[in-house]
Amino acid sequence: MLIKVLGSAAGGGFPQLNCNCRNCADARLGKPGLHPRTQSSLAISRDGQTWVLLNASPDLRQQVGAPPELAPHAQAGVRSSPIKAVVLTNGDVDHIAGLLSLREGLAFTLYASERVLGALIANSVFDVLDRRLVPRVPLSIGKPTELAHFGMSLGLSMEAFAVPGKVALYLEDPTAGRTLGAREGDTIGLGISDPATGAGFFYIPGCAAIDAVLAERLRGAALVLFDGTLYSDDEMIAQGLSTKTGKRMGHISMSGRDGSIAAFRALDVKRRIFVHINNSNPVLRQDSLERAEAERAGWEVAFDGMEIHL
Ligand SMILES: [Zn+2]
Repeated sequence: MLIKVLGSAAGGGFPQLNCNCRNCADARLGKPGLHPRTQSSLAISRDGQTWVLLNASPDLRQQVGAPPELAPHAQAGVRSSPIKAVVLTNGDVDHIAGLLSLREGLAFTLYASERVLGALIANSVFDVLDRRLVPRVPLSIGKPTELAHFGMSLGLSMEAFAVPGKVALYLEDPTAGRTLGAREGDTIGLGISDPATGAGFFYIPGCAAIDAVLAERLRGAALVLFDGTLYSDDEMIAQGLSTKTGKRMGHISMSGRDGSIAAFRALDVKRRIFVHINNSNPVLRQDSLERAEAERAGWEVAFDGMEIHL
């Protein structure tokens, strides 16, 4: 199985167009040790010929223009794409807006939870995707799904599972109290495997906490790509960027007693990679103490164009 990190940044990308935080300002100046990043998406393939996108970011057009494997193949018809399916892990704008760039008569199968499909149905702009070309397939939580496109197997099996999280910002119901109206399926993780080889990995770009159930699921895994939005829970407040903590945004932070670095310490995960990294996060600076701390704990920081062969 091939995994390509198309976009390693969180919503807004890096640098973010309206952000003048230290990271964004330095990235804009081209200072060494800071690399621009597009918004959150992976591409995966069993055979290198047909591809599945995990999330469709607003930067999709730029992302699929870069690797030649994702461009129309030379022998294919005048209109074609090797992208045969898209899987969504939540309804966040940085994960769904790219669907609108896939509207030019492209046929692909769209997988998401019932909750996220409901959000698409409620936004009629997504009707631009012709249902005859883009069937919407609800993902059962906790049950493996064989990825396929109009009866053609894509050779990959996927299990969606609920993770602690939050409803997308634009769907928040402030009258619902602390949960903001979140329900099962608002945020999912994916376990993806190749039944032919047994290789597999977990993709969890948004996660509010690592509870006992999630910890047991991940224990001993070969590879986890995990939510790396913030280093510290109050990082955006401290930098004057927002009034929200990571917890309020539904993202666990890397550091701290209940952070992801600490939580993974006892899980024996062979390879762990942070994705969905916010532009405020100091791990984006290659020479930062925070980057060194994450790497010392065995973590890698994803970058656009990163390739993993399983
Ligand atoms: Zn910034």
